[in-house]
Amino acid sequence: MTATFAEVTPSTAAGPIRSVSVVSTGTTQIHPQQPFGSRIPMYAWLVGSRRWTPPRPVNAYVIEHTGGLVLFDTGQDRASVTDPDYFPEGLTGFLYDRLARFQIGPQDTLIAKLAAAGHRATGVHLAILSHLHEDHIGGIPYLPETEFIVADAEWRAMEQPLPELRGFLRRHIDRPGARFRRIGFSPTEDPALAPFTSAYDVMGDGSLVLLPTPGHTPGSMSLLVRRPDRAPLLLVGDLTYEAELLEAGRIPGVGEKAGLRRASAMVREFTELHPRLVVLPAHDPGAAERLRRSNGEGR
Ligand SMILES: [Zn+2]
Repeated sequence: MTATFAEVTPSTAAGPIRSVSVVSTGTTQIHPQQPFGSRIPMYAWLVGSRRWTPPRPVNAYVIEHTGGLVLFDTGQDRASVTDPDYFPEGLTGFLYDRLARFQIGPQDTLIAKLAAAGHRATGVHLAILSHLHEDHIGGIPYLPETEFIVADAEWRAMEQPLPELRGFLRRHIDRPGARFRRIGFSPTEDPALAPFTSAYDVMGDGSLVLLPTPGHTPGSMSLLVRRPDRAPLLLVGDLTYEAELLEAGRIPGVGEKAGLRRASAMVREFTELHPRLVVLPAHDPGAAERLRRSNGEGR
């Protein structure tokens, strides 16, 4: 990205971020071992657990930047509950069935939710994908004008053999016509980003900064949203399922544990350095309310 914000549009005291809001593409139920962690191996509880959490959101964050409309994640495709051919057959399909249950009505699609908020699908300039799991990539077929940003490490993980078995429904991601920008992180010495030492400045103006937080998947990343007049936000995807769990040092039951521990510790340290920071996971039941409060919208 070479263009700076100043070249795109004149700066204002409020900065380039006009608003940040959240929509949820229906809800999901997962086994409690997923958010809260488990001592037994994932495949054991995935197949054996009979408990499901109450419905949780499947969040996509909507950022109005003066340079265009930006999404962070795109939710779960409603076709996954209406089209019997959406998932692979056999063992892989069985595992997806065991992983999560989705409730997605006609009014819950990403496009319907964007329309209700006054946005057209064709107006979405960029969509950042925190990672490439099913409940984050669901909007890809419905955003024909959008450029998708994904970590190069995530894309390469998808390209390995048997992507479906590892949570990457490749034919719903790598679609003909979909435009992807595969990004790497550049070294940074910006003390405001410590302890992170690499970052990717999405708009070239420092308002939207991607930080590597691998662990849930090899290329999982978080988005720092900086607004001069409001609390900074950190959208963490599935690094944790509740901000309080991350704060308490609890590691989820899915993903690579050492990576999750490392990335969570870095986010915790970052939070200590920025006490106003609001951490917003994709499936945190409290995230929408915390975002509203950070926007000064009260209850
Ligand atoms: Zn997710």
